[in-house]
Formats: sequence, structure tokens, C-alpha cells
Amino acid sequence: MRKILIANRGEIAGRIIRTCNEMGIESIAVYSDADSELPYVKQATKAFRIGEPPVMKSYLNVNKLLEIALKEKVDGIHPGYGFLSENSTFAKKVEESGIRFIGPSWQVIDAMGDKIQARKTMKNAGVPIVPGTVEPISDLEEACRVANEIGYPIMLKASSGGGGIGMVRCDDEPSLKKAFVSTQQRAKAYFGSDLMFIEKYIAGARHIEMQIFGDGQGNIVHLFERDCSIQRRNQKVIEESPSPFLNETIRNEMSEAAIKAARAVSYSNAGTVEFIVAEDGQFYFLEMNTRLQVEHPVTEMVTGLDLVRWQIEVASGKPLTLLQNEIAQKGHSMEFRLYAEDPATFLPSPGKLVTLHFPEMVGVRVDGGYEAGNQVSPFYDPMIAKIIVSDSNRKGCLLKAKAFFNDFQLTGIKCNSPLFEQILNDDDFQKGNYTTAFLTEKQLMKKS
Ligand code: ADP
Ligand code: ADP
Ligand code: MG
Repeated sequence: MRKILIANRGEIAGRIIRTCNEMGIESIAVYSDADSELPYVKQATKAFRIGEPPVMKSYLNVNKLLEIALKEKVDGIHPGYGFLSENSTFAKKVEESGIRFIGPSWQVIDAMGDKIQARKTMKNAGVPIVPGTVEPISDLEEACRVANEIGYPIMLKASSGGGGIGMVRCDDEPSLKKAFVSTQQRAKAYFGSDLMFIEKYIAGARHIEMQIFGDGQGNIVHLFERDCSIQRRNQKVIEESPSPFLNETIRNEMSEAAIKAARAVSYSNAGTVEFIVAEDGQFYFLEMNTRLQVEHPVTEMVTGLDLVRWQIEVASGKPLTLLQNEIAQKGHSMEFRLYAEDPATFLPSPGKLVTLHFPEMVGVRVDGGYEAGNQVSPFYDPMIAKIIVSDSNRKGCLLKAKAFFNDFQLTGIKCNSPLFEQILNDDDFQKGNYTTAFLTEKQLMKKS
């Protein structure tokens, strides 16, 4: 590939541009009126305005994106994460325009985007799934019957859901009765489909996922796990690799299950198999994300591999160059998602970044989307940057992260760095002793 269009913005656009530069590939960026001043626009070889700030008029405007891609004669389109990255119609249109989509085939995106279908596929492939239904639930009456069979608490989920939206935990029948129709309506509004299913709610669980990579030529490898259990509203805030919870036995079983999952759909390019892990170490398939993950840098830091480069190479038709036994997990890495938000209520706090200072330290990588003077727009995800801290061991990571946030400065808007300082000072976190309920249990999250 000689030229790539990046159908995204901010931090991830900058991340992809850096690898393009290293590979001698020209990068074409796109920006909305809200983003014209952001660093990635200047960093790209060329940048084009795509429209007004609302996503439908800019980053989700498929025709406009394809028009620029064709006019610029790009060889590939990288969708980043979010936006069009898991939109199979987009991926199909890109391929039909004679341009490589830097991600899996549109058929696989389509198949894994539907959580019910994904559960069915994984069940048939022998991958353990969360106990629950593998057929859509048609109405409240059926939902109550199924929930009784499974046993409360349960998780009511939209088959099309994502980003922590379209799911609700129900502890008893009254709460299910209260939640069913509104969750269905919300799913319809957000994702255009109200197909629902029910899972057993796994209490005291951790979210641990496996990074996988396929080349579409028969080779599939895993790049070990990420523990993403520190969450707010079912969304990740801190991720780390290795997981402090996994021992060699469970790690091996989980990586085998992830490879099995990937083989079941002949996966190509980068993907993530998400598992929910119960207290007893039993793990269950949650979903597969058919894209580069926000938290991919922790995997890059412990494996020493550039996942975006791999994505571009595989999309160019090259086979994977490393065998499974040539990929090692070395040292420890932790990612902190710095958001423009109130650290206690998690409500977005858009506005102008007046000052922004990231201390420079050995082993700290900042994947950022903004510089001082920029506006954090209310139109998009309020993530400002990802701070990736690495060391030879977890203890070193914790100390380094503390030192980082101690020196870190941001003024003009609210951000969640005080939350990171509280988490880093917590005994249980320091011991690696945490579940997805950590922020609520520690009362670091105000009920909203
Ligand atoms: P992951 O599963 O990769 O950890 P999440 O589900 O937390 O990621 O985040 C993906 C989400 O990132 C999207 O649903 C969207 O809300 C958000 N997003 C999309 N594009 C961007 C971007 N350029 N910068 C920051 N966040 C983004
Ligand atoms: P999304 O597509 O929004 O990422 P997931 O199914 O991956 O949805 O779930 C997101 C998060 O919600 C998980 O990381 C976990 O914290 C929580 N969760 C989802 N399903 C369950 C479940 N059955 N039991 C307990 N927690 C769950
Ligand atoms: Mg998920």
C-alpha cells in the first residue's frame, strides 16, 4: 500500500498516521468543522474537510468518504475504532470500490456484530458462552419465563448493542418488567434493532479479553490478554496486560478458546475475543470485536509489536511473519483513558483545553488527540488521550503511573485524572484484586 485514508478522528487517526509514516505510506485524513485545529489534521500527508460536526454529516458520511478515497486513489481505508469500524455495509462498499478495507471481511463483521448469532456460532464451535438464550426473546412474558429458568440476577441485552449501551442488569422479576420495554426502545433508537436476549449475570467477575490476529491464509495467532475490569457504566477506564488474575493454566485455556473462536469464522486481521471471567476462574465468551481495540497499546508494549503495521500488512495480502511461539508477553503495561469528564459523576466536560502537560518519562507512551488551545467538542467521545505506562513488572508500573499523574497538568476543563490517583492509591487495586464492580464498590462512582 502506498496511500491510506483514515476514516476517523483524534487520537486513533494520529496513531494510524504514525505507523503510515514509519512504513513510508501517505496518509489522508478527514476532519469535520469541529476538528480542523486538531494535531492529526496537520500530521497527515493531506487532509480533507468532510462536513459539519454532527457525525451523520461527517465521520459517518460514507459517500463523502468514498468520494475522497477514490479521488485520492488510496489503496486502503483504515476505519479506526468506533464510527464505521464495525459497519459491514461500509466495509463492503469499500471493497466494491476496489479499495482494501483494513479490517476483517464484511461477512465476518456482519456475523459477529449480531451478538445472538455470535453466541450461536461460538456455542457450535465449542467455545464456552455465558449461560442464557441463543434465540431472540420476543416479548416480556417470554423474558420472564427465561429469566426464571436461568435464575436472577440476569443481564438483558440487545443483540446489536455496543459501548455499554443496550444492556441492563435485572435482579428480580419486577426490575425485568420495568426495564424490558425501555431497553428494547433504546436499542432500537441507537442501533436500529430491538432484538433482545438474556444472559446469566456473572457476579464478582472480571473482563479479560484476548487479542487475536489472522492473515486470511490459514494463520491465526493470539497476542495474549488484556484485563479491562476497571469500568464505569460497563465501559473500560483502565486496562492492563498481563492480567493479575490469570495463572498459566487459565491463560492457556483462554488463548486456546480465543483461537478456536477466530478459526470458527476464518478470521483475518486484528480482532478481540472478550470473555467474562467468574470468581472461580471459569470464563465465558461475551462478544467479538472485529476491529482494532482502544486498548491495543498495552498489547503492543508487552509484545513489542506494532498492531497497526500488522493490520496494514495483512490487508495488503501478506501472511503473518511470526509463529505463535515467537510471540512473547514481556514486562507489564497499563493504559489510562484520560477523559474530559467529571471524575466523580463521569459526565462529559467539553470545552477549551487551556494548558496540557504530559510529563516525559521512560516507559510512558501518550497516544493523544489534542494539544493546548484545542476545544474538546461535545459532538464526539470525550477521550483526550491514552496514557500507557510500562515497566518490567506491575509494581514498577504502579509507581511510575503515580509519578506521572502527580506531575500531569491540565486546565480549562474537568478530567478524570483525580480518579486515577484514587485508584492507584487503593490497596486492592495495588494487589490486582478487583472486579468490574470495583468503582461502584469503592464508591468512586456516584450513582447517576
Ligand atoms: P473497546 O471495546 O475497543 O475498548 P470501547 O467500546 O470502549 O472500545 O470504545 C469504542 C468507542 O470509542 C466507540 O463506541 C466510540 O464511542 C468511541 N470512539 C470512537 N471513535 C473515537 C475516537 N476517534 N476517539 C475516541 N473515542 C472514540
Ligand atoms: P459491549 O458490546 O457494550 O461492549 P459486552 O457484552 O462486551 O457489551 O459487555 C460490556 C461489559 O458489561 C462487560 O465488560 C462486563 O463488565 C459487563 N457484562 C456484560 N455481560 C455481562 C454478564 N453476563 N455478567 C456480568 N457482567 C456483564
Ligand atoms: Mg464489549
